Amino acid sequence: MSEAAVPDRLASRARELDAGDELAALRARFVLDDDDVVYLDGNSLGALPATVPDRVDDVVRRQWGRLRIRSWEESGWWTAPERIGDRIAPLVGAAAGQIVVGDSTSVNVFKALVAAVRMARETGGEGRDEIVVDATTFPTDGYIAGSAARMTGCALRPVEPAGVPGALGDRTAAVLLNHVDYRTGRLHDLPGLTAAVHAAGAVVVWDLCHSAGALPVGLDAHGVDLAVGCTYKYLNGGPGSPAYLYVRRDLQGRFDSPLPGWNSHAEPFGMRSAYEAAPGAVRGRVGTPDILSMLALEASLDVWEGVGIDAVRAKSLALTDFFLECVEAYAGPGRTECVTPRRHGERGSQVALRCPDAGDVMKHLIGRGVVGDFRHPDVLRFGFTPLYVGFADAERAARVLGEVLDEVAGGATA
Ligand SMILES: *Cc1c(COP(=O)(O)O)cnc(C)c1O
Repeated sequence: MSEAAVPDRLASRARELDAGDELAALRARFVLDDDDVVYLDGNSLGALPATVPDRVDDVVRRQWGRLRIRSWEESGWWTAPERIGDRIAPLVGAAAGQIVVGDSTSVNVFKALVAAVRMARETGGEGRDEIVVDATTFPTDGYIAGSAARMTGCALRPVEPAGVPGALGDRTAAVLLNHVDYRTGRLHDLPGLTAAVHAAGAVVVWDLCHSAGALPVGLDAHGVDLAVGCTYKYLNGGPGSPAYLYVRRDLQGRFDSPLPGWNSHAEPFGMRSAYEAAPGAVRGRVGTPDILSMLALEASLDVWEGVGIDAVRAKSLALTDFFLECVEAYAGPGRTECVTPRRHGERGSQVALRCPDAGDVMKHLIGRGVVGDFRHPDVLRFGFTPLYVGFADAERAARVLGEVLDEVAGGATA
């Protein structure tokens, strides 16, 4: 086959794959550029769902502007954190009544981890004095784990996820893990690691930021204790949209929040000086919910109507497989190093490639309409969001990457 035939072959494969894609029509549920931009940064900030602008307009003008304080009742503001939690629940394999939306992921990591240590000590005693944390974690999780350890008098043990089973013991109180590594896109073994933590008598907290909305999580099925995640990545809730906290139903009565606020009080309008925790998911709340971004998130979840997470996962793997094949054809061999596992069982929904001058390469890519992101020191990240990214996007991104690598390596970086 001649060289010129490769782009033709891959472009026509992309057309075929798009034609057979049962999720292709979902792209119309989003506000996106027609054809001039390939958006592969939905793992950082999901695209805008088309239902959001009108909903936000209504929330601001009518609910706030005209109904004002009546909206806490009449517009369902007060119960929004649990109501929206129940809409996220099926996407992460949770039955209703276990997820509350609010605060940032960082704050929820803190709540969950301190509560996990308290739970572990309630049954295992004060000898449980270690917090194990993913050594490769997203920075905020690591910082908060360090602070939670100091506050609870625990030692902090950073461990690579694969080494976690060997690091557990009767001193382990809590373990904080990421389902998918934000940098490499590696998917960790949630069922296996959860079982290992339980066998050691400890409590596990999973961070789902890079998995929820991209792949099945199975929180209930795998007996996860606590989980947190953000909603502005694969869940498309908008910049800074509130995060969520999952507390397994049978643990809710033992969830002793380090941030008890009036919103999680059994009788919030009783205005009592003594704290008494509410039952159920409400117990994870702190203060007044951020209604504007919360209701934008609620509207954004309409895009999941009739969509099964298994179909999303199948397309995500097909997209990342095809992108890797295209990268090999256009940008290989040896010009980039793929740090995302090839094996499906170990891959999230992004492809991370290492290369020299990665920061520069990403600037050029964005200049040419291929939007991914750069992570220090040398990683190009390409997020594949199956609801609105197609196979032609993957082919084009890889082709432009090949051209940019030629330019940057050729010194044409001005
Ligand atoms: C995106 C992300 C966060 C973000 O936390 P914020 O409080 O929303 O800034 C936290 N943890 C992980 C693993 C993430 O990927």
